[in-house]
Amino acid sequence: MVGKKLKIGWFSFTCSEDSTMVFIELMNEHLDEWRRLIEFRHARVLKKDNHLNDIDVAFVEGAITNEKDADMLRQIRQNSRKLIAIGSCAVSGMPAAQRNSFDPEMNGEIQFLIKRFKQSDKVRAIKEVVKVDGDVPGCPMEEAVFLSTLHDCMKEFGVVDA
Ligand code: SF4
Repeated sequence: MVGKKLKIGWFSFTCSEDSTMVFIELMNEHLDEWRRLIEFRHARVLKKDNHLNDIDVAFVEGAITNEKDADMLRQIRQNSRKLIAIGSCAVSGMPAAQRNSFDPEMNGEIQFLIKRFKQSDKVRAIKEVVKVDGDVPGCPMEEAVFLSTLHDCMKEFGVVDA
């Protein structure tokens, strides 16, 4: 087990990216440990050189608002052994999906933006597009649940002792 690392990806779709900020803040306390135990395969918030393949766990934040992002999410799923939805927007779609409940008049008023930015009719949670293996709820994500989920993944993939 010595030297084995958990290969992770961190991805953000439409949202305020506050769970990403929580993730970065957690590095104040966990960076040394994570350097030993984690290989960041894909994390655009941390580095430019990213690889969308051979990922043990993909952590996915945000909601899906257009087909291009839906296709990207499907690619992430295909290249990841496990996928965890991060934060309320990814888990349930809300609050990023507020426009789904607009009344017909308000919906009509935003149609020019939907067309201009090639948006889908409805905003979708991650699980409406791909299979999800776990959730970290909260807005932004609950730190303790994330840390325990990460630890469980390390155990599952043989990075730390069970
Ligand atoms: S769940 Fe909350 S904090 Fe996270 S992206 Fe959505 S609105 Fe922002």
